[in-house]
Amino acid sequence: MKRITECRICRNKGIKEFFNLGDQPFANSLLKNPDEKENFYPLSLSWCPDCNLVQLNHTADPKELFSDYVWVTATSKTAKEHAVNFYKEILSRTKDLKRGYVLEVASNDGTFLIPFIKNNYKVLGVDPAKNIVDMAIKEGVPTICGFFGEELAMEIIKEHGHAKVIFARNVLPHVANIHDFVKGLRECLEDDGLLVLEVHYAKKIFEELHYDSIYHEHLCYFTLKSIEKLLNQYGLFVFDIEKSPISGGSLIFYIRKKKTEEKPIVQSYREIEKEIKLNELSSWEDFAKKAYSHREELLKILNDLKKEGKAIVGYGASARSSTLLNFCGIDNKFISMIADQNPLKQGFYTAGTHLLIDSPEKVMEKKPDYVFILAWNFTDEITDILKKRFNYTGKCIIPLPNSPKIISV
Ligand SMILES: [Zn+2]
Repeated sequence: MKRITECRICRNKGIKEFFNLGDQPFANSLLKNPDEKENFYPLSLSWCPDCNLVQLNHTADPKELFSDYVWVTATSKTAKEHAVNFYKEILSRTKDLKRGYVLEVASNDGTFLIPFIKNNYKVLGVDPAKNIVDMAIKEGVPTICGFFGEELAMEIIKEHGHAKVIFARNVLPHVANIHDFVKGLRECLEDDGLLVLEVHYAKKIFEELHYDSIYHEHLCYFTLKSIEKLLNQYGLFVFDIEKSPISGGSLIFYIRKKKTEEKPIVQSYREIEKEIKLNELSSWEDFAKKAYSHREELLKILNDLKKEGKAIVGYGASARSSTLLNFCGIDNKFISMIADQNPLKQGFYTAGTHLLIDSPEKVMEKKPDYVFILAWNFTDEITDILKKRFNYTGKCIIPLPNSPKIISV
């Protein structure tokens, strides 16, 4: 684990630490048995006085973090619906796509390329996780296994030519060698091509207290200001922005190699960021204070329920839930098990907090009084499953956004 000495984007040496979440295990390093030895690594954030990027102070070895990634996109129904919309939005901003191909970087199981394949467009995926690449290929999505950067971009150009469209969802903030990555994107894109980047938006994190989106994989927390600072260095320009329907607060940035007519929404985002002081250090120091209070509040709720003898289970063993559980110290004193629909996670234990993950069927056999919705950005989808599949009539704890809430389903 390396501590950075300068800003990841502009290389300013005066970055300032404002939030420390303590030592935590890697969020996706689930355990086969609860007694397994595991490593803990520092998790803290700094702010850059020049480009104002909010960023992790430490960088983990990407090979250790990503090579056996268990999260599979297609397990979420919301993601599948988003994939179809995403396809339509891209098509509406692209001419002559039939003559070129679509490249997805960090394509996971290929869910987002499938709508293009169904409509007879040529596609190519790239992903570093071997087990997931194998699954994608089986599903008929041509996918290269590797870490994207300038070198891989050159190989792709040699074999397939430049891409008409490149998209990368929720990957840019995870890249340690971000300059090499952006150079690769620029190289690989046709001159009149379209680049689409979806990233978790720091404004949403800031306003709704999404401190659970801070984990070792997530190195950069972008605002429009900081992402423009990065892209402009490489002659890439944001011309349109949209809100993503998933990930609890992501933005989709539409980018071209030339400064084309910018949609008014881009300027309005710049103004809003200024207005709410999103790019200032004092704002982020307030954010950290609020996160500490949130932890107190959540633990009080759980302690009170515990005293009343209530049975609580969790739902959704996502990477985000790992930060929340570890930061707050929520273990089997409070929660007996966690339900997750992803069969690859079932039978494993959560990192650091050692909660058993099992299928929703197994977990709901416990007849809980409360379901703690850890994947709270999928609350509607989960409460729907609880009602329809399990006739659940108990309550749910929704930890975020902002203050924790208890709702009836
Ligand atoms: Zn900077």
